Amino acid sequence: MFDSLSDKLGGIFDKLKRSGALKEADVSAALREVRIALLEADVALPVVKDFVEKVREKAVGQEVLKSVTPGQMVIKIVNDNLVEMLGGEGKTIDLAAAAPVPILMVGLQGSGKTTSTAKIAKRLQEKEKKKVLMASLDVRRPAAMEQLQILGEQTGVATLPIIAGQMPVDIAKRAMTAAKLQGFDVVMLDTAGRLHVDQSLMAEVVAIRNAVNPHETLLVADALTGQDAVNVAQQFSDQVGLTGVVLTRMDGDGRGGAALSMRAVTGKPIKLVGVGEKIDDLEEFHPERVASRILG
Ligand code: GDP
Repeated sequence: MFDSLSDKLGGIFDKLKRSGALKEADVSAALREVRIALLEADVALPVVKDFVEKVREKAVGQEVLKSVTPGQMVIKIVNDNLVEMLGGEGKTIDLAAAAPVPILMVGLQGSGKTTSTAKIAKRLQEKEKKKVLMASLDVRRPAAMEQLQILGEQTGVATLPIIAGQMPVDIAKRAMTAAKLQGFDVVMLDTAGRLHVDQSLMAEVVAIRNAVNPHETLLVADALTGQDAVNVAQQFSDQVGLTGVVLTRMDGDGRGGAALSMRAVTGKPIKLVGVGEKIDDLEEFHPERVASRILG
């Protein structure tokens, strides 16, 4: 087992006096441990580097409070910065637009997109008392369309009837028209995923975005994918434009470093987290909890 970060930093600072300012050499020694902790938590390397530099600037020269050791002081600075970076405004799903409000769900296949679509739809229906229509735009995988339909039946959320052979943009437009006519408040569009980001996937998502002008575009990402997550997030962020992230599989063994990577790369808040396979396994994102999990 690894020692916790506090134990390691405690060791580094043991030899120091309990007072005075944090010195550059000591901060550097401490930040080497922080860097290892973040990498072990699967935070992407460029994000780790940026974070460590930010903390270095803040830590060097800081007066150590009388009540804590220098090690505890560095941990506090690291933790505060992590929470700040993970947090941010606009964490709830924004529905402040004319009904029906389109929400576009994007991400790789297997990230938990369809499950998250149904989880969010049910939540909006139950907690916000919104009338929600879900539509699957995954025309290449009939099983995915059926999966959403079944989830709709299980959760009591309406789904757009499937018309075989219709293209994604046309399905999206049909969903919006149906929602207008039938008085739905929200339309959740579950787009197709691929195993890897490719240009045809991106072009399709961009065409759908242009057709419906979504109020929220949420990237669904698997918290266990670690370093890869950054590449995926970067591409969706650059090419499609995102308003937030839904992080799935936070119930897994991972330390959740992807949360920091996602937040840093997209600049957008993590709006919700998936914590299991069941439809109610959806939680709000708590930066403090994730920060302590990342630091181990
Ligand atoms: P999609 O291909 O992106 O639409 O992915 P799915 O929604 O079909 O999910 C793929 C698998 O991941 C399914 O077996 C889901 O039950 C599972 N899954 C989705 N979200 C979570 C989560 O938060 N935690 C866990 N443990 N499993 C999840």
